[in-house]
Amino acid sequence: MGPPAGLTRRSSSMASLPLGLLGRGSSGRKNKGLDGVSEMQGVLEEEEFLGVTEGGQPLRNLVLPSSLVDTFVAIANSNTDKGIETCGLLMGGLSHNTFTISHLLIPKQEGTPDTCMTTHEEEHFTFQDERDLMTLGWIHTHPTQSCFMSSLDLHSHASYQVMLAEAVAIVCAPNHDPSFGIFRMTDPPGLETIVKCDIKGLFHPHPDLPIYTDVDQSWGHCRMRNIPFEAVDLRR
Ligand SMILES: [Zn+2]
Ligand SMILES: [Zn+2]
Repeated sequence: MGPPAGLTRRSSSMASLPLGLLGRGSSGRKNKGLDGVSEMQGVLEEEEFLGVTEGGQPLRNLVLPSSLVDTFVAIANSNTDKGIETCGLLMGGLSHNTFTISHLLIPKQEGTPDTCMTTHEEEHFTFQDERDLMTLGWIHTHPTQSCFMSSLDLHSHASYQVMLAEAVAIVCAPNHDPSFGIFRMTDPPGLETIVKCDIKGLFHPHPDLPIYTDVDQSWGHCRMRNIPFEAVDLRR
């Protein structure tokens, strides 16, 4: 686990930049044909998130609305008070080499104190198809536990990250500090360790390796920005 999420850093002056200027990560085509951007060169250089896997593969930028975590924690609050997990799906699109999360979907689900399983999957596939959205990750609460990726969380996240290397898992632990973390599995060794793991049982130990990492630190591919998003709760 990294240090507590740096709220001070997140509210830096960069946060007010329009999204269109963010994250043109592939250096070969930045600034071309963009009026008035040349004086922004220095800013743009800083805005390249430079996310890269442990194996050296570049990761495209992922922009997360800065109020999404708080909104999700508020939606989850009644379950959290009962000690029951809540989960949600992070959806959005890809433009200019940057994924942007635009929708938080709360699917129908069955939660326990340490698990949360989506049900009625056809409903969220329909939601996604109708809006032409990609699944960019998922978010869930730990009502009583601290902020970490459980072995079940790792196996769940493997299916997202196999589909999309930039997919993130957000864990919210409202009663702990840090109260949330944004993670992906290391690649290598995390992703292949989990994909190859065939140990039965929801919770089991994994090798003592750096299996996952924060993605919103200086080396990561994810940043929070003050952008709008839509939250939709299919449980109602
Ligand atoms: Zn969990
Ligand atoms: Zn395992």
